[in-house]
This record gives sequence, structure tokens and C-alpha cells, in this order.
Amino acid sequence: MISEISVDEETIEPGIVVEADSRSNPLLVDCGAGTIYRLAQAGFDITCFDTVLLTHHHLDYVADLPSLLKARWPQDSSTGMIADPPGTREYLSAFLDIDLLLERLDVPFREYDSSQSTLCGFDIETCETIHSASGFAYRIDDVFTFSGDTVVSESVARFADGSSVLVHDCAYYDEEEMNHATPHQLGQTLADVDIDDFYLAHFYPDAAANADAMRRTVSEYVPATVHIPADLETIQIQASE
Ligand SMILES: [Zn+2]
Repeated sequence: MISEISVDEETIEPGIVVEADSRSNPLLVDCGAGTIYRLAQAGFDITCFDTVLLTHHHLDYVADLPSLLKARWPQDSSTGMIADPPGTREYLSAFLDIDLLLERLDVPFREYDSSQSTLCGFDIETCETIHSASGFAYRIDDVFTFSGDTVVSESVARFADGSSVLVHDCAYYDEEEMNHATPHQLGQTLADVDIDDFYLAHFYPDAAANADAMRRTVSEYVPATVHIPADLETIQIQASE
């Protein structure tokens, strides 16, 4: 069961915490710049994250990883597993070499070799995204789907069908952009997808300036309640039976 999801998505650097009452360690999904600061603001001990699940390797999704990993070093504890899309290990190995982190820490990378897995006690399903880097959308415990960065796609729409909550890239207000979703395309493609609450996220500046118009546009197509998440917002989700 997922009981709480803390969303730090209003700005363009994502970091999402997934928690359940009955499980000791929360799961961190992505770790963009500012995540460490927001986790502290939200009252988390940042050394409690032993698993980071990455949608893809772009800097705005991994920028705070070195700081998160180094925070666990004084504990002399095994350091977080990073579950990642194919190819991410190579990119992150160079990135995490700063401050000799990879020499100091045993950082177990894990690449998915199947479409379903379990992390921190959560059931994780994956769906390939369409973006300028290889990546995954994730569906967690069947009730929460996060798209990561992706254009609007039928495969991600079908993947999310039946989720209670979907957080989806909607980076651009303009309809001509590549590699990310835009509101008309998103609304049209997900019009018949069964979702209770639909969060638009990862706003670039033009989108941020037009957030409410984007929310209204998507609402014209989909029956779900469409939201614009705020930093530090917590979303409670009931378990699916
Ligand atoms: Zn990206």
C-alpha cells in the first residue's frame, strides 16, 4: 500500500518520496537539484534513503545524487542502490566520480532486466518512455504512476490506465516542442484513461507562467481531477485491493 507521496515538482527538478506506513524505508524517485533541501524541509533524515529509483539520467533528475550518497558515507553503511534505465550506469559513473565517491562508497547499480520488480517493498512496473534519453515511467503498487520525461505516448497512457494518481511531464505550454508532453496532446491521448487524480509536472518557464491555463486545457479532455502540484505537497493514496 502507498500511504503518502511527497511531490517536489512545481519547479523543473523532480524528486518524489513514496512512503507506506508498514514499511521502514521510503523510496526516492529521482533526485534533481534542490531535493536534499526539500527533504530536510519535509522532515526526512536524508540518510534513510537506501534506494533511489531513476526515470532517466538527465541532470535535472540526478543533480543531488552525489550529496545524497555522500551523506551516507559517515554512517559507514552500504550506500543506496540505484535502479536505473539501461545506459544510466555509464553516465552516472562519470558523474558520481566527483569527490572519489565511487572509490569511497560501494554503490550498487541495478539495471532493470524485466518489466516488474520490487524495491523497498513496493511493486514496481516499468514502461519505456520517448525522450532524448532512454528512460522509464514507473507504476508503483499499481496505484501511482510517474511518467518521468516523455512525449505523450499511447504506451504510457495504457500503462497508467487504472492508477489512482498519475504525475505526468507537461513541460511546455507551446504545442510545437519535442521530447516532452504538452497539454492538448496529453488531454487528447489520455481522454479515456481511468485515473482519479492527474498531476501536471516538470514545468519549464513558459509552462509555469501558464500553469492554470494548462490545467484547464487538460481538464477539457479527461474526467480526472487535474492538479498543479506544489513543492512539498503530500498526496495520500488508498491501497488497491
Ligand atoms: Zn529529461
